[in-house]
Amino acid sequence: MGDERAERIAEFVRPLRVEPGRKVRLEQDFDPRYKAGIRRKRDGVELLRSGVELLADYQRRLAAQDTHGVLVCLQALDAGGKDGTIRHVMSGVNPQGVRVAGFKVPSDDELDHDFLWRYHRELPRRGEIGIFNRSHYEEVLVVRVHPENLLRQKLPGAARGPGVWKRRYREINDWERYLTDNGFTIVKIFLNLSKEEQRTRFLKRIDVPERNWKFSPADVRERAHWDDYQKAFSKMLSATSTAWAPWYVIPADRKWFARVCVSAVLAHTLIGIDPRYPEVGGETRRELAEVKRELERQAPEGEPADPFAAKETGEGKAEGKAKGKAKGRGKGRGRGKAAGKGRGGKHGGRA
Ligand code: AMP
Ligand code: MG
Repeated sequence: MGDERAERIAEFVRPLRVEPGRKVRLEQDFDPRYKAGIRRKRDGVELLRSGVELLADYQRRLAAQDTHGVLVCLQALDAGGKDGTIRHVMSGVNPQGVRVAGFKVPSDDELDHDFLWRYHRELPRRGEIGIFNRSHYEEVLVVRVHPENLLRQKLPGAARGPGVWKRRYREINDWERYLTDNGFTIVKIFLNLSKEEQRTRFLKRIDVPERNWKFSPADVRERAHWDDYQKAFSKMLSATSTAWAPWYVIPADRKWFARVCVSAVLAHTLIGIDPRYPEVGGETRRELAEVKRELERQAPEGEPADPFAAKETGEGKAEGKAKGKAKGRGKGRGRGKAAGKGRGGKHGGRA
């Protein structure tokens, strides 16, 4: 990663980050329509493409190093664009290295445990990027806006009394600190949608038959609590954006811009981790050299000793061809004794 590119990304994400200790008033502080001076969607699409490539590269290194894991928490109001963001931003990343977990209304089994239990069970492994589609933050959002959810959690009196939200913020911060200290980097993303854009997206979900499944009349009932949610988000952002697990507020009214931002935030996070391919030490290197010599000895007649190196340098090609010709075996090999041996070397022989 060139320092210049890393610096550009850092600068781009800076205004999106909630500095620890800052008191956030969402509606005054963050504009859902902000687009950082990028004028056209076309420019954004270009940016997103290079972000997706960068992520794929970093994810390979993260997996190879197998030391750090990354947890991305995605929060938004209904129709905020969580699903589409995951689909687009992670489109270039090896699915084997990503784990997505969504969280809905807790089950009876989940309610029989402490409130962080179900989230802990879905954490990424080392080397993985985990995405929480909704997260433990629902515990201070929907649960706060609808306190009947808290009653269902079967908490002892002391744990649901006054100060419950403050205490939950602290517990969440502590839990995230613990995870960070143990090699798991946490990044929290809030897709900040305007009320009017939400109305438009709801109507689209009603008007377009293929989108009907995404809409639930309950979403409109939730919308009636818009102001309560804005307050709950503001308090959450103020209390839980920490040096070790910062929040980013993403302007979400333009989907393309939100995706550019999220990909930049993830790139910035991975650049910070700076995962490296493991280096092979002297002893292993000697072993590799030995095995290499053995594999080279197994080269069939007419084939370069190391076809990969030959291809890389472009030398072996001519060499192999010349040899092949001299022995009277060109493309037509595949019959004769020698040819049979050759195939055995490459594809495990004729079954
Ligand atoms: P969706 O993501 O649209 O499928 O909806 C999932 C629903 O589950 C949302 O309405 C959330 O508010 C709700 N939900 C998620 N987590 C919790 C929680 N811890 N307690 C209560 N409701 C929750
Ligand atoms: Mg929904």
